[in-house]
Amino acid sequence: MLALHLTKPPGRPLSVLAIGAHPDDIEIGAGGTLLTLAGSQPGLRAHYLVLTGSADRQLEARRAASAFLPAADLTISLHGLPESRLPAAWDRVKDALQEVAAVFVPDLVIVPDRGDAHQDHRTIAEIVPTVFRDQLNLAYEIPKWDGDFSRPSTYVPLSAETARRKVELLHKCFPSQRHRDWWDDEVFLGLARLRGMECRAPYAEAFTCTKSLITISTSRPGTTSEVREPPHDSLHRPRLAD
Ligand SMILES: [Zn+2]
Repeated sequence: MLALHLTKPPGRPLSVLAIGAHPDDIEIGAGGTLLTLAGSQPGLRAHYLVLTGSADRQLEARRAASAFLPAADLTISLHGLPESRLPAAWDRVKDALQEVAAVFVPDLVIVPDRGDAHQDHRTIAEIVPTVFRDQLNLAYEIPKWDGDFSRPSTYVPLSAETARRKVELLHKCFPSQRHRDWWDDEVFLGLARLRGMECRAPYAEAFTCTKSLITISTSRPGTTSEVREPPHDSLHRPRLAD
């Protein structure tokens, strides 16, 4: 399948905003994607926003952000909103998102999925598009007891090394979660292998993307293929491979 390439915008590094309801959401849903971005995008700018968490859990989130985004220009916002009650904290969630939007303009936003069965995940997913309206939004999936997976639209292939590194870091960064009966290598690697099978890669993370733009390469006889520069005012957009 022809792949859309995520490339940095002209003249500046790529910037990514990762949003989670709880410490570990971002890393479970998109940890391999973040590791891949960190390893391939020089000067990557990243902002982590986590809406709930005790002091201990926030410490885990802070360490995980640094581990999954080594060498990135990283900033972090951690909030202590009431866990499992985010639908009743709608205004405060939107305020937290707008605080970030006032100081950080991302090209790519990594968010929970609108169809997620957890009310905290779903609330964030509903509010994000009201704040970040001109970005590429990728909604990640979180394995859980509810069995709420839908059919993803977008895949990020992962090498075996990256998939295993993701799981290694999950165990290392979130010791408070190791006792959970679903927290194990088989769940994380099994899902990644299944998504990899679906996109013909060793492993993958899958996302739902409700809107994306394609810039089509132009090629004329006697010339080499070239990619037309996007409009001056545009943010990052995925392009067809040239
Ligand atoms: Zn969560």
